[in-house]
Amino acid sequence: MATIERVLLGPGPSNPYPEATAALCAPLLGHLDPEFLRVLDETCARLRRVWGTENARTLPLSGTGSIGMEAAFANFARPGDVVVVGVNGLFGERMVDVAGRYGADVVRVDHDWGQPVDVERMLAAHPEPSLVAAVHAETSTGVRSDIKALAAAVHQRDQRALVLADCVTSLAGIPVEIDAWGVDIAYSGTQKCLGVSPGLSPFTVSERAWDRRVKRPPTWYLDLNLIGAYVDGTGGRTYHHTAPVALIASLHAALGRILEEGLDAVHERHRAAGERLRAGLADLGLELFAAEGHRLPELTTVRVPDGVDSAKVRQILLTEYGIEIGAGAGAFASSVWRIGLMGHNARPDRVELILAALRRAM
Ligand code: PLP
Repeated sequence: MATIERVLLGPGPSNPYPEATAALCAPLLGHLDPEFLRVLDETCARLRRVWGTENARTLPLSGTGSIGMEAAFANFARPGDVVVVGVNGLFGERMVDVAGRYGADVVRVDHDWGQPVDVERMLAAHPEPSLVAAVHAETSTGVRSDIKALAAAVHQRDQRALVLADCVTSLAGIPVEIDAWGVDIAYSGTQKCLGVSPGLSPFTVSERAWDRRVKRPPTWYLDLNLIGAYVDGTGGRTYHHTAPVALIASLHAALGRILEEGLDAVHERHRAAGERLRAGLADLGLELFAAEGHRLPELTTVRVPDGVDSAKVRQILLTEYGIEIGAGAGAFASSVWRIGLMGHNARPDRVELILAALRRAM
């Protein structure tokens, strides 16, 4: 089969950083090889810098972003625990589903899609929740919610409540400050702004959350006690499951690239790309979907103009220009497009490429 190359400008995966792709081709090491363990330790240290945390328990979980979500609820929600979840898109909806499967008493706080999570409504939803959860960057709608304000408000009212943030589409695209914001548990995914293939879920947990973990979660694979014994070496590198060695090496390389460029510069590159795309879409006469003031630079949602066949345009982009963009999510499947500028794709040339191709395809 001929090798097909695409420009991945949808909601993820994005095109990996070249350094991440090159690392995938390096000779494979064993998962207990001292050199691999050095790379693993360095990957965790680099993740701490990108997350903005000193959390000892900061590691890449084996699996896509949803594994992070699953691990979060499996290890920090007991049956009957009250978990308040902000739902302003598909991934908040998924949190409700996952938390419920672990027996949590879920209190959902629904918002219109396209709007950010409202801090006051989250507080009003329950007086004493165990966990308050929200999605930082809602990939289904292109909306950023203010996790810093949410965490501050939750902690100010109740010292016991833990704050959980889904940072799948935010980490390494827009600022995330786990310690400064007071986020207790967070997870991400490698295939978005981190610029790596799908398959790992960076995860971080504060000490106070760790003290309140479920001692024996109902899942063996995602039991953080067991995984931690291998990753942080406190258990003498006890074998738990075979680490996805090549993917971790790839993440290590991407993080090296990001930190070399500088985290602030990477955020600025995403911001500038998003701004340029929004201006270009306005020039095309297109209307944006996400609420103004809350738009993500790395994922722009745009309304499909009346009379334009959404699927047909996406097909032309793919087959004639080799560009993938996303359909809308849920009820907006055919009325919204999602254009991602994540990681290696957060660049002016990608912006001009999609604007030119979109103009022709419409
Ligand atoms: N959370 C958010 C905000 C996402 O965008 C995604 C994936 O797009 C997920 C969770 C789930 O991640 P994955 O599809 O990698 O399992």
